[in-house]
Amino acid sequence: MKIAFFEIEDWETEYIRKKLQGYTIEIYKEHIGVDIAEQLKDVEIISVFIYSSLTEEILEKMPQLKLIVTRSTGYDHIDLAYCKKKGISVCNVPTYGANTVAEHTFALILSLSRNIIPSVERTRRGSFEVDGLRGFDLHGKTIGVIGVGHIGKEVIRIAQGFGMRVIAYTGHPNEELAKKLKISFHSLSELLSLSDVISLHVPLLKETRHMINKRNIGKCKKGSMLINTARGGLIETEAILYGLEKGIFSSVGLDVLEEECGVKEERELLSGKFIESCDLKTQLYNHVLLRRENVLITPHNAFNSNEALDTILKITSENIVNFMNKTPINIVKL
Ligand code: NAD
Repeated sequence: MKIAFFEIEDWETEYIRKKLQGYTIEIYKEHIGVDIAEQLKDVEIISVFIYSSLTEEILEKMPQLKLIVTRSTGYDHIDLAYCKKKGISVCNVPTYGANTVAEHTFALILSLSRNIIPSVERTRRGSFEVDGLRGFDLHGKTIGVIGVGHIGKEVIRIAQGFGMRVIAYTGHPNEELAKKLKISFHSLSELLSLSDVISLHVPLLKETRHMINKRNIGKCKKGSMLINTARGGLIETEAILYGLEKGIFSSVGLDVLEEECGVKEERELLSGKFIESCDLKTQLYNHVLLRRENVLITPHNAFNSNEALDTILKITSENIVNFMNKTPINIVKL
């Protein structure tokens, strides 16, 4: 059985070879193209990331292909209609780091609530004065979680560990879920008006674009904290600046900004290819919010933990092994 991996970086090779002992593994650093596919007439499984565009032209060169395993959540780089016609199965990684992003969310919240950055800057300068560094407790405060999916649920779990009251707004609220999670669902306006901390965990869609904006920013509780680790386009940037100017927000923590060159998959940010096509650093530096003291910005790094990246490889290996054992998992509906 021959398995070919594409878009693989050095640190991933060792893991793959260890996990898939007994199989013939071919590793390609580059994405798949017609020329490589032509040499893979006997390949039965391929694993790719999103830069491998699996078109009919490429797929038809591999007549023995039975399974495509993408190391991404999204699969719009694969011609699913062709796969269906030819009986090729497709697996993805539906989720890989819900707790990872939730933990980063709290890294931002705690850094802001306890003035960690200015505190550290001060001690590094040799001063141990505490003037102006007073923070506030999370215990007893209300966090408004927008989006109760994989990540939102982890944020709720952690928030409850801190003794926070959790309220939520999501696409499909239901009483059973509210009871199970010990939360209450509200309209977006209610959530904005009741929350001491607002945290976003919804996908960026046409309906969610600028869900926090200049028109509804006034509804937010005065002095609240705004946290976004989902997608920059969920919040109108001008509204954040307005909210800070007017004291509506006491602080803002962002792992994502608008104008991030349409990042689809977090792992893209680790790839040289992404960096080539998008000068993220310059865009970040140019961003006006960066200059504000009560704003903390991280470079879309919430996903970036050893464990989350290992999980992508672990799930990929499991997808392959389970398929071989005729107990397939994470199959994309064709
Ligand atoms: P998920 O699909 O599990 O959950 C999304 C939630 O949003 C669901 O509860 C859904 O009901 C809700 N939702 C969808 N459309 C909505 C709408 N129109 N109005 C209100 N609620 C709506 O997704 P997830 O795994 O929890 O991830 C959430 C987002 O986090 C992702 O879409 C991604 O953009 C972002 N993310 C960021 C990083 C990072 O590194 N910063 C990493 C992973 C994911």
